[in-house]
Amino acid sequence: MARVVILFGPPGAGKGTQASRLSAALGLPHVSTGDLFREHGAKGTPLGQAAQKFMDAGQLVPDAVVLDMLFDRTSKADCKAGYLLDGFPRTVPQAEARAARLAKTDHVSVLNLQVPDAVLLERITGRRSCKACSNVHHLRTAPPKTAGRCDKCGGELVQRSDDTTKVFGDRLAVYRQQTQPLEGWYARAGTLVDVDGNRAPEVVFEELRSKAFPEPSKGRA
Ligand SMILES: [Zn+2]
Repeated sequence: MARVVILFGPPGAGKGTQASRLSAALGLPHVSTGDLFREHGAKGTPLGQAAQKFMDAGQLVPDAVVLDMLFDRTSKADCKAGYLLDGFPRTVPQAEARAARLAKTDHVSVLNLQVPDAVLLERITGRRSCKACSNVHHLRTAPPKTAGRCDKCGGELVQRSDDTTKVFGDRLAVYRQQTQPLEGWYARAGTLVDVDGNRAPEVVFEELRSKAFPEPSKGRA
């Protein structure tokens, strides 16, 4: 029986940060679809080339390609006892396709990080990144000692285009429209565990860890 933990939540909810720590704490490999894209792309695998064609055309990578990458990764020996999934699924059809190919004995927990839109917007649009060393400050929660300058190297702080209200707001809207409906899908499967993500990262981490494997014999999805 594989123990599969899916970290779910809107962009800016802290999934990336929590996933690496949680992966270490639970002893499960961290499988991120973003990392898989980059790895396959860098190695120029057939799947990587297929994905690149769509990305170059500014299109979404089709589910079939993403799923092939995912199953290629999770069929490796280190995932036999389970894994932590981050960045997938993003749509109900993806979740259905994944469930159809999943071993019936797998035990799935979906940890749903809940953060209000206003908080996410404030978190992301306040970010300022160093042009020289990529260090990240936040205007309110981690302001630089000198305005506009990186604390680490003195480089110029800029707002990344991804972090503007317009671009981030659009991503959030896509999430609410296409990805959030998965909450209902997982809730019906009995695998959804809500976690309040609007708290200090340490507190959120402890709750994620304690809720990752609630009790055996729960549903699967
Ligand atoms: Zn810097």
